[in-house]
Amino acid sequence: MDWRELANCRGMDPDLFFPVGNSSSVAALVQIDEAKAVCSSCPVAQQCLDWAMHVDPVEGIWGGTTEAERRAKRRRALAYRNTARTAA
Ligand code: SF4
Repeated sequence: MDWRELANCRGMDPDLFFPVGNSSSVAALVQIDEAKAVCSSCPVAQQCLDWAMHVDPVEGIWGGTTEAERRAKRRRALAYRNTARTAA
């Protein structure tokens, strides 16, 4: 079974997960919070996040994260990997 079949957002308006306009506007922040609330109880949030991290750059809310949050995660993972490599 594809993990998407178990997604909380299945059948919902996908626009909720793709805020438009200035990402720091009140309207966008409210929309991001609403989307993250759906993700917070999603049984396949980890699979969704893993997919987005591998496919990136991908817009929108995936696995309860914004594109900017996933970029930051990727930078932290890269920095950690480089530090571990240097220490070895
Ligand atoms: S984590 Fe969020 S975007 Fe991903 S499948 Fe679940 S509800 Fe949908």
